Amino acid sequence: MHAIMNLKKITGLSHATEQAFSRLADQALNSGIQLKIASGFRSIERQLAIWNRKSHPDYVFNVDGQEVATRDLSRKQWLKAVMQWSAVPGLSRHHWGTDIDVFDANALPKDYSLQLTPTEYSENGIFSSLHQFLNHHVDRNPQREFFRPYRSVTNGVSPEAWHLSYYPEAQSLMRSFTLSRAYQLVPFEHMYAGELVKEHFDYIYQHYVINVDD
Ligand SMILES: [Zn+2]
Repeated sequence: MHAIMNLKKITGLSHATEQAFSRLADQALNSGIQLKIASGFRSIERQLAIWNRKSHPDYVFNVDGQEVATRDLSRKQWLKAVMQWSAVPGLSRHHWGTDIDVFDANALPKDYSLQLTPTEYSENGIFSSLHQFLNHHVDRNPQREFFRPYRSVTNGVSPEAWHLSYYPEAQSLMRSFTLSRAYQLVPFEHMYAGELVKEHFDYIYQHYVINVDD
């Protein structure tokens, strides 16, 4: 099946991003990988719902997705723990229509539900072929169609090997994504801990928006 067939279900991605994904998916097929999108465009409203669902005063999630009690954390530490997993609504790159989370449908075990964890995407994980493919065809692609903004741990977000960003459009969006523009997009009054986010907004902008791999 040609990869373009998969695009029918995708809405909200830019045309150029869809086209580039289609090319990448065709290329992946040559390595036996059926590249699919787990998450593409996401509205601010949707991210707000995710944020409010995942923010809890009593616990946060650790790297393995397990609940950890928060009684010993400061408010800022709590916030950082939440932001490791959930983007502040308005600040997610998934709002841009240029960013996608991908997986290999061929490697997905039967009855397994995708977790999007570093283990799955590691050298020895279920997506080991995809791991190799992304290392070679995304990170080292001289044409820079896609790049991985959360590949390493240089920022506050936990590494997301599965997150691809369409470079030509995302880079120019990023240039116009100033602190004041970003601030205007965040629905502080509707979100859990909105005041806390407001209080640390400069920090959040520097560490979670600007400071990505490129
Ligand atoms: Zn993502």
